Amino acid sequence: MMENIKTKIGIIICDRYRTCAGGKCFRALQHREGAFDGYAKDETVELVAYTTCGGCPGGNIEYAPEEMKKNGAEVVHLATGFVVGYPPCPYIKQFKDLIEIKHGMKVIIGTHPIPEKYLIEHTKMKTWNSSEWAELIKPTMSDEKTRIDYN
Ligand code: SF4
Repeated sequence: MMENIKTKIGIIICDRYRTCAGGKCFRALQHREGAFDGYAKDETVELVAYTTCGGCPGGNIEYAPEEMKKNGAEVVHLATGFVVGYPPCPYIKQFKDLIEIKHGMKVIIGTHPIPEKYLIEHTKMKTWNSSEWAELIKPTMSDEKTRIDYN
C-alpha cells in the first residue's frame, strides 16, 4: 500500500493583520486554493505553527522558523497579507532568503488567493508592475472566480 505523503507547514502573517482569525488561510488550505494548490488533494498538510512577523521590520522572522522547525515544519508560508497590504511588505525577499538560507526551510509566498478587490487596487496603483513582484504574486493569483470568492 502506498503511504500517504504528510507535510507539516507553518504560516507567518504580516503583523498589520495580527488580529486576523485566519479564516481565509484555513479555508484555502482545506480547499487547496491559492498558494496551497501545489499540495496534492490526498496529501496530508498539517499546520503546526501560526504566528506574526512581530511588526516592522519583522524581528520574529529571525526566530519563529526555528521553533516551527522543531515542531516538524518543513515549509513556511508567508501569508498573502505580505503582498496585498499597502504598501506590500518591503522585506519579503530578505525574509525568504533568511528562512531558506539560515533555517534551511522551503518558503512559499502566500496562503489564500488574492482577493479580487486587492488586485483591482494594486493594478490601479501599479504596485506589482515589476518582474520581481510578478513572481511574488504568482502563487496566489488564482482565477477571477476564486479571487471574487475571497473578497
Ligand atoms: S510589512 Fe512586513 S515587516 Fe511590516 S508588519 Fe508586515 S510583514 Fe511585518
